[in-house]
Amino acid sequence: MTATITSPEKSGESDKRANPATDIFERRESQVRSYCRSWPVVFDRARGAEQVTEDGTTYLDFFSGAGALNYGHNHPVIKGALLDYLAEDNVVHALDMYTPAKRAFLTAFEEKILQPRGMDHKIQLPGPTGTNSVETALKIARKATGRPYIVSFTNAFHGMTLGSLAVTGNSMKREGAGAPLYHSQTAPYDDYFDGATPDFHWLESVWADSGSGVDLPAAVIVETVQGEGGLRAARNEWLRDLSALCRRFEVLLIIDDVQAGCGRTGAFFSFEEAGIEPDIICLSKSLSGMGLPLSVTLLRPELDLWEPAEHNGTFRGFNPAFVTATAALNEFWADDAFENTVRERCAQLTSGLLAIIDEREDASYRGRGLLAGIVFDDLERAEKVAAEAFRRGLLIETSGPSSEVVKVMPPLTVTEEELNHGLTILAEAVRAA
Ligand code: PMP
Repeated sequence: MTATITSPEKSGESDKRANPATDIFERRESQVRSYCRSWPVVFDRARGAEQVTEDGTTYLDFFSGAGALNYGHNHPVIKGALLDYLAEDNVVHALDMYTPAKRAFLTAFEEKILQPRGMDHKIQLPGPTGTNSVETALKIARKATGRPYIVSFTNAFHGMTLGSLAVTGNSMKREGAGAPLYHSQTAPYDDYFDGATPDFHWLESVWADSGSGVDLPAAVIVETVQGEGGLRAARNEWLRDLSALCRRFEVLLIIDDVQAGCGRTGAFFSFEEAGIEPDIICLSKSLSGMGLPLSVTLLRPELDLWEPAEHNGTFRGFNPAFVTATAALNEFWADDAFENTVRERCAQLTSGLLAIIDEREDASYRGRGLLAGIVFDDLERAEKVAAEAFRRGLLIETSGPSSEVVKVMPPLTVTEEELNHGLTILAEAVRAA
């Protein structure tokens, strides 16, 4: 069964024929809401890669909660851990107080993620969202170096609070700030020009030139794949050169792995393939394993400089998220098995997208791993493709400053058959659009 509900707002008939299923959202909820405009149905239940509306329509979910659902919806092991925890009246809210749930999470993160990779980073729990992690990274970099500027890249996305927005590229989102966005400088991301120009040649020159008028920054913040800004993926050698440049000038390197991390590109961290060692790492979205809010900022030990409570927040100890995160780490990251399967799915998605592109002159591949998509010469085509996909029962979103990229982001737990099915629908949607 495919969806038949159309948005009263979009059809301009909200007054005359209000849909009782969506009326309260459209009448009372702020108009800032956006995903529901592309998918104006009421999602009720979800499991794995499927979401079911309250009228019983099933959708294949290749959106994965914008990257917060890498292990799919309601994974039984993760959900089971949460249900057990709540059933036993364990502590839910704890600020930064010690609890067994937090102890288990920190232990699992140390044993499954940090130690096997030889990482001695401290784990700061900065608050529940990705932008909390980014703000923490920016603040600590400034505190550690005494320098106010942060370099970010064209088409970067780092979050909606003022610090994160100052290092975000999108002009519409930046204008939403309503205030000047300070102390950031933008540099060209990999392949911003012609692929031949080393894209941070400018940085290298101005940092070395005491007459350039450009102050040395505290840090550079970068996504290895630009999840919101159009799915450009930095090459490993570009990341390595950037890392070496930062080392040379004693500028801190922050990797924002909020969207590309937690296995999205194969390895747990998206920068592992490049072999770089960031000073600061931001993680959130899929860290909790089932969409509960949780983020961490990983800091080289010498950057762990806050006085107690110098940086704090009420929701730094959401124990249900520690419980689900621990279950996810133990279930998926105890050995290489999951990572190997994810790599197979990555290869399957890449070849599936390339096959779709192969039929056309006006489209090309963007992204890496299971964070990939298709960019069209016609900037409006991607939105049409996403709408056609929705009509056929597939949830995919768009990415990029003009929403010009179709973004395919299935759960990492997607089966081979589900991925093939989704790719078949996508191919049909591309042809129909
Ligand atoms: N960094 C990146 C790379 C992101 O993709 C996002 C969210 N799309 C954020 C930061 C902000 O995360 P949140 O929305 O949880 O604040």
